[in-house]
Amino acid sequence: MNTITSSKVPVVELPSGEVLSLKVIDIVGKKKGPMCYLQASVHGAEHQGNAVIYQLLKYLEKNEIAGSIRLVPMANPIALNNKIGTYTHGRFNSNTGDNWNRLYHDFTKDNDQVLEFAKKYLGYDELDIDKQYKLLLSKLIEDKKNENSNYGIDRNGHVNILLQELAHNADYVLDLHTGPVATRYLYVPEYLEEKCADLQFPHNLIIPNNFAGAMDEASFMPWINLQRAFKELGRDYDIAFEAYTVELGSEERISLEEAQLDLRHILHYLFLRGIVTEEDNPITTTIKKCKLKDYKTYYAPRGALYEYMVQPGQAVKKGEVLAVALNFENHFKEEEIKIELRANQDCIVINHYPSSSVPSGAELFQVMESIY
Ligand SMILES: [Zn+2]
Repeated sequence: MNTITSSKVPVVELPSGEVLSLKVIDIVGKKKGPMCYLQASVHGAEHQGNAVIYQLLKYLEKNEIAGSIRLVPMANPIALNNKIGTYTHGRFNSNTGDNWNRLYHDFTKDNDQVLEFAKKYLGYDELDIDKQYKLLLSKLIEDKKNENSNYGIDRNGHVNILLQELAHNADYVLDLHTGPVATRYLYVPEYLEEKCADLQFPHNLIIPNNFAGAMDEASFMPWINLQRAFKELGRDYDIAFEAYTVELGSEERISLEEAQLDLRHILHYLFLRGIVTEEDNPITTTIKKCKLKDYKTYYAPRGALYEYMVQPGQAVKKGEVLAVALNFENHFKEEEIKIELRANQDCIVINHYPSSSVPSGAELFQVMESIY
């Protein structure tokens, strides 16, 4: 059977002396195979990924795999424990205001060591290259960690570098998030557009092969940069590495029943990648995609109390009412208190603001347009 081990990685020592840690669970199969890394809750209010990790762990206790899986539930204990009233203030670092999923590091951008590496391994086969390159990544992460150590460690972004270190050996990275009130969807880099169907997610946002600070990007950019370095030297290098941001419904809740269904997507993917060795009940979904430029945000046109008239996952026609809202200032301007917001174009609703009380300019809806 699989070997399952657990370890902890300290993240921060609190003023009272307690230490918050990452909880790392490693599952290693008897047979050799690739490594998949999964983490959940980097945005502290986004809990469903932990329910999925729980279901996956239960599965792995009974079913042999080839290769290994590393699980990091509760991947941001700082954010997860940050409660204001009943609400988890989990998206932004409460000290700095930074979005926790924009604080990862791109070690390989314009890094001469990548080009040097490509020159050295120009004639090698891809399996050897991938193995050697992970050693370089490990070194670059270590260098980054040591950069500031004489003067202490900046708390902002520290958990991010620790997570990158835990993931650097993986062949596949799944970063489990949720939206505010949301359906299930994937962020997919352009270079994986064909492969993403293996996760059988209904909604897929195709993002550029660029770095904007997120975990998926921080994980795949070293491979994109390596591919670019090989290209300069005249070699076509196929990237085997994959990373996705997996959005599992709405924040501030878990459902173990829904996690069973989420798990089927992940097991299907792991089966196709040769880690899970048997599959009883393969999942199939109608897959819809749009480019990031067609992933549109409706910013609230007015501050008001909004009732959402459409649900995440729903297809909406141009002109249909998305939301109605009440603004009592209108009464004093002899206007209707009730306002309507209608769809500009045909779309599928992906998520909406989690509260009815909305200031103007807030991200009210995010929708997919020009779907293919
Ligand atoms: Zn998130």
